[in-house]
Amino acid sequence: MVNETFTINKKMESEIVMISLQQLLEQDNFTKDELIYLLSLENKNDIDLLFEKALKVKEKYFGTDIHLRGIIEISNHCEENCLYCGLRRANKNITRYRMSVDEVVNAALHIKEAGVKTVVLQSGEDSDLTQQMVTEMIQKIKAVHDCAITLSLGERSYADYKTWFAAGADRYLLKHETNNENLYKFIHSNQSLKNRLEHLLYMKAIGYQIGSGNIIGLPTQTLEDIAEDLVLCKQLDLDMASFSPFVSSEKTPFANIANASVDSTLKVMAVARLYLKNVHIPATTALATLDERGREKGILAGANVIMPSFTPHPYRTDYLIYDDKICIGEDPRQCISCLSIRISSVGGTISNSKGDSLKFTLPTILD
Ligand code: SF4
Repeated sequence: MVNETFTINKKMESEIVMISLQQLLEQDNFTKDELIYLLSLENKNDIDLLFEKALKVKEKYFGTDIHLRGIIEISNHCEENCLYCGLRRANKNITRYRMSVDEVVNAALHIKEAGVKTVVLQSGEDSDLTQQMVTEMIQKIKAVHDCAITLSLGERSYADYKTWFAAGADRYLLKHETNNENLYKFIHSNQSLKNRLEHLLYMKAIGYQIGSGNIIGLPTQTLEDIAEDLVLCKQLDLDMASFSPFVSSEKTPFANIANASVDSTLKVMAVARLYLKNVHIPATTALATLDERGREKGILAGANVIMPSFTPHPYRTDYLIYDDKICIGEDPRQCISCLSIRISSVGGTISNSKGDSLKFTLPTILD
């Protein structure tokens, strides 16, 4: 039922406040209890109202623009062993690759030809992908394409972050995955959440536009955990925030865990749009893997970014964090016409800008 009454027990103020969903959605900010309430909506009319409001907030900041980010998956080597991930080092059943600098620059030229103004370099945590190699990739790409460069190379040394920023990298994407320390520890036995957050804050301090976000549908995860994820995203003052569904990989310890629900993921994205307002939020490839119209549904729930892969063959089929990833058999250069049809079918238009953060200010490099 629309306009169902939401009762907030404001313990601090010793009063009970009754408001409708409509009124709640008009608020400028939300408490953790309110976030949990919105994440728990089940009634179709209520959820439609949530998505409608999220779309309006997205359009207030971004209009109908959808930003494309062209991803090049430059290495699938990884020294970590995250329980859910098909690239984990214990997985001996994949063909490992590391692209050369020239191969990466060539793929970036395809991104340029497609008119896409952001190049994302993504990999597992691969120390043989040296600081020097990535520096060369950044410099050579910037020399041939007037674009923004996002790095998504996992946790690296502070010296690496600083060198790559000085070389021309603009953004860094490092998902926190979950703000529940016990769950984080369970998934990454030798990494710490605290450390990851310190890396993000360092990157922000030296001038990167930063992106983070969670995974929805992890074992034992509760709505309160997800609300905590959203609160963390706000505290970090992110430029980009990604909320992707868990999709299982048969080659991992999480092989038998059920995939996340598309509807739950869309709700998180919509609540994130209301709460985080002007951040970039992608409709992820994982969402489109679970639902053929996942990207369109994501846009209607408040997303404003799509990240097509431009990883060339033969590597394209070997970057499998999860099973059944879409589009890996396609020629990446043909993706744009497909995406263009999908985006316009839900009232979006592909932006021809770099799609920098709306919070962006001129960076300064720390000494
Ligand atoms: S999630 Fe990232 S760090 Fe973890 S195993 Fe996969 S590629 Fe490596």
